[in-house]
Amino acid sequence: MSEMQEYVDIRKYSTLQVGGQFRYLFRVTNTDELGEVYSFSREKDLPVFVLGGGSNIVFHDGVLHYVVIKMEIQGFQIIEDAHEHIDIKVGAGVAWDTFVAQTVAMELSGIEAMSAIPGTVGATPVQNVGAYGQEAKDTIVSVEVFDIENNAIKILANAECAFAYRDSIFKNEAKGKYVITSVTYRLSKKVPTMPNYPGVKKYFDEKKIAHPTLQEIRTAIIDIRKNKLPDPKDIPSAGSFFKNPIVSRSTAEKLKEEHPSVTIFPVDDERMKIPAGWLIEQAGLKGKDFGALSTYIHNALVLVNNGSAVFADVESVRDQIVTTVFDKFGITLEVEPEFV
Ligand SMILES: Cc1cc2nc3c(=O)[nH]c(=O)nc-3n(C[C@H](O)[C@H](O)[C@H](O)COP(=O)(O)OP(=O)(O)OC[C@H]3O[C@@H](n4cnc5c(N)ncnc54)[C@H](O)[C@@H]3O)c2cc1C
Repeated sequence: MSEMQEYVDIRKYSTLQVGGQFRYLFRVTNTDELGEVYSFSREKDLPVFVLGGGSNIVFHDGVLHYVVIKMEIQGFQIIEDAHEHIDIKVGAGVAWDTFVAQTVAMELSGIEAMSAIPGTVGATPVQNVGAYGQEAKDTIVSVEVFDIENNAIKILANAECAFAYRDSIFKNEAKGKYVITSVTYRLSKKVPTMPNYPGVKKYFDEKKIAHPTLQEIRTAIIDIRKNKLPDPKDIPSAGSFFKNPIVSRSTAEKLKEEHPSVTIFPVDDERMKIPAGWLIEQAGLKGKDFGALSTYIHNALVLVNNGSAVFADVESVRDQIVTTVFDKFGITLEVEPEFV
């Protein structure tokens, strides 16, 4: 049986550093231990919660009566080495950015634009993480899961995961059904393409680099992110606090007419994505001090814990931002991190 702790301070396990205590926490390093933890949870009649790096969750205060699995399954295995691609199976507990760095060093492309996203490999399918034009769904071949009800390992193909913008079955119908134990990614041996983002283009224009290498793209992304996203080691946050709202083309075009400075991104023929950070900034809330929390001075989309925030503070600030943006634009923002 894996190591068990009781009444664990949640703030150490949450990049926002908000929350009370976990009743039980198990560090799980292999799939056999999962069955044992579930037997324990049935014995105690408590639900299980799977925790990666705690970078996309807002926890309640007080004692959370959960059996928490701290996912620490390691592993890095080349499954297939083909002419144009390599398939790599990676343990769910591996730090995502460690894996990205390894693939870049191997000159494999596909996830370099997702450099420096905090958290674990096992969480990347959950909200289909993405940044600078790349999304986890574009490289995931399959997801290996522990099927809780049947106490068995199962493989889900990419198509079975119903990936969408910051969404998948793991957030919906399969929530609480599976623990992700490893993920297999297909990475390309082809020459990388520069992320098609104004900030990235500007970065390379200034450096007069027309065809950046993978390592140069990774370095650029890390540099650009440093200015926009606080490092959880220094400033507690849960990253982007709101999703970029997806609206009808007509709503987006009307907004563009009224506010030519807004950048809108096409999603499909009928829908467009609007940067939530821009909406919050235009509503006058960039760098706003709400007391226990602030919006980040360099990026209105990030909520920063000033040191003493509790769950109710997060809820109150969320509501103030949602209301202010709705009153100005008629657009309802949705929170990105999960509230537990
Ligand atoms: C500074 C900062 C920047 C960020 N930038 C980005 C970004 O650019 N793009 C982006 O998409 N996200 C971003 N995020 C959000 C976050 O990093 C990602 O969502 C990340 O994938 C969460 O990983 P985690 O291991 O911390 O998951 P956690 O926060 O621990 O968990 C998130 C959810 O996944 C579930 N989960 C975790 N592991 C497993 C598993 N093995 N099996 C089943 N369920 C599991 C949890 O139960 C929970 O529901 C950022 C966050 C921060 C703090």
